[in-house]
Amino acid sequence: MYDVCVAGAGVAGATLAREAARRGLKVLLIDRSTMEKVGDKVCGDALGSHHLDRLGLTLPSETYFSMYPGIEIYSPDMRSCLSIIAEGLSAYALNRLKFGQFLLKLALDAGCEFKPETQVRGLIVEQGCVKGVRLADKNGVKQDVYAKVTVDATGVSRALCRELQEAGFDQELDDDETLVCYREILETRSTPPIPAIYLDMGDAPGGYFWVFPEGEGRVNAGLGVTKGSANPKLLFEKWVDKLPCLKDNIVKAIHKGGGIVPARRPIDSAVWNGFIAVGDAAFMVNPLHGGGIGSSMTGGFLAARVAAEALEQGRVDEEALWGFNVEYMRNYGVKQAALDVFRVFLQGLNNELINYGLAQGLIKSEDLLEASMGGKLRLNITEKASRFFSGIGKPGFLLKLNRTVKLMEDFRQFYMDYPSRLDFDRWRRRVRAFHNRVHEEVGKPS
Ligand SMILES: Cc1cc2nc3c(=O)[nH]c(=O)nc-3n(C[C@H](O)[C@H](O)[C@H](O)COP(=O)(O)OP(=O)(O)OC[C@H]3O[C@@H](n4cnc5c(N)ncnc54)[C@H](O)[C@@H]3O)c2cc1C
Repeated sequence: MYDVCVAGAGVAGATLAREAARRGLKVLLIDRSTMEKVGDKVCGDALGSHHLDRLGLTLPSETYFSMYPGIEIYSPDMRSCLSIIAEGLSAYALNRLKFGQFLLKLALDAGCEFKPETQVRGLIVEQGCVKGVRLADKNGVKQDVYAKVTVDATGVSRALCRELQEAGFDQELDDDETLVCYREILETRSTPPIPAIYLDMGDAPGGYFWVFPEGEGRVNAGLGVTKGSANPKLLFEKWVDKLPCLKDNIVKAIHKGGGIVPARRPIDSAVWNGFIAVGDAAFMVNPLHGGGIGSSMTGGFLAARVAAEALEQGRVDEEALWGFNVEYMRNYGVKQAALDVFRVFLQGLNNELINYGLAQGLIKSEDLLEASMGGKLRLNITEKASRFFSGIGKPGFLLKLNRTVKLMEDFRQFYMDYPSRLDFDRWRRRVRAFHNRVHEEVGKPS
């Protein structure tokens, strides 16, 4: 019997496994991929260094290609550019495979056991408590593994959460919360100096196109679009054709692939009796930019701490693990929830409004950075801006923007006041009603 069994050795699972093993727990980590392929995920490969600082991790040089001081965001007409650069902040362009291997090694060095090439097929649930997982190895040989705490860290596939619908894990991604992505790693003749994000509701509906340099002669480029809106692979070709930093600059594609980003508020509760969900499985991505590596690692770290404390008290029921919900919300979920309101608002905009908003500085670089880091949004609404929106027949737009800021603050407060298990059902009903209201009030196309 293991203390903790972790399904999925991605960034969330490996971080959790390491921290749990460091705390003296007997940990099993399982992944369907081979050991050498752990970490090999289609991704933008960008990670803010502050996430690592928070976890006290220093990256060896082989785990990243380069570092950059910030990012540029372009309006659809390319006339405006927000430079998000702040002192003390930097981001890594990760070598995603080597980064994943580094996290796995940390977990193994801490004493965790690892089962590669093993598919997690389902949960063992006995008397209203998760008791472990059902596995199948690459030859189809089945095995049951028992653990006091079982963790779903299988990413957006949510292999185990899906089995606990009746226990409250009934939240699925709505189409507007599902970013369908297509990405290529490109060998290029020259490399853009700084990562860039391009907004366009026609050519990247509900998401954006990115071009992230990864050292000399290598670029990570791709886009995410809301589910059902467009085919991102077809749009990719269009972007290559229209961006000077890509057109006639590509030597060859090194890798092509797709993936899903869950862009939404966190799952209402990530725990049940003997069970915790972390990372994409528990919707821990920043809904504004779709980055989930750092927050998933934070989630994994906090979950290990709470599991260790619960095990020390000899209890792994939902109430004993509840502290994980509270800790995650306090550390990241509050901001995530606020940014989800902003995401809903942004997805309702058209190119004309984005062009004008960025040109007139309705939102300034430092305010966008502050929003992304802390979930608080400040606006810079001038008389001139008010006249413009009246002039184009959208006098209500600024009201809607102000309303968004207010709703962000209210939603933030909901999550600051995350309830005890006893008050949870009422809180959840209120949050769901509030979320519907956000869509009603600021989500409709402007
Ligand atoms: C195209 C794209 C671009 C992105 N760009 C960025 C970015 O630039 N920066 C950023 O911070 N985030 C980015 N993200 C998001 C980020 O990759 C995820 O949020 C993060 O990887 C989530 O970590 P995780 O550990 O929860 O899941 P994952 O990293 O997906 O790991 C899940 C693991 O579980 C394993 N697994 C799944 N099912 C099973 C099963 N049934 N049995 C056994 N093992 C299983 C998988 O093999 C995998 O190793 C991007 C995502 C996509 C799709």
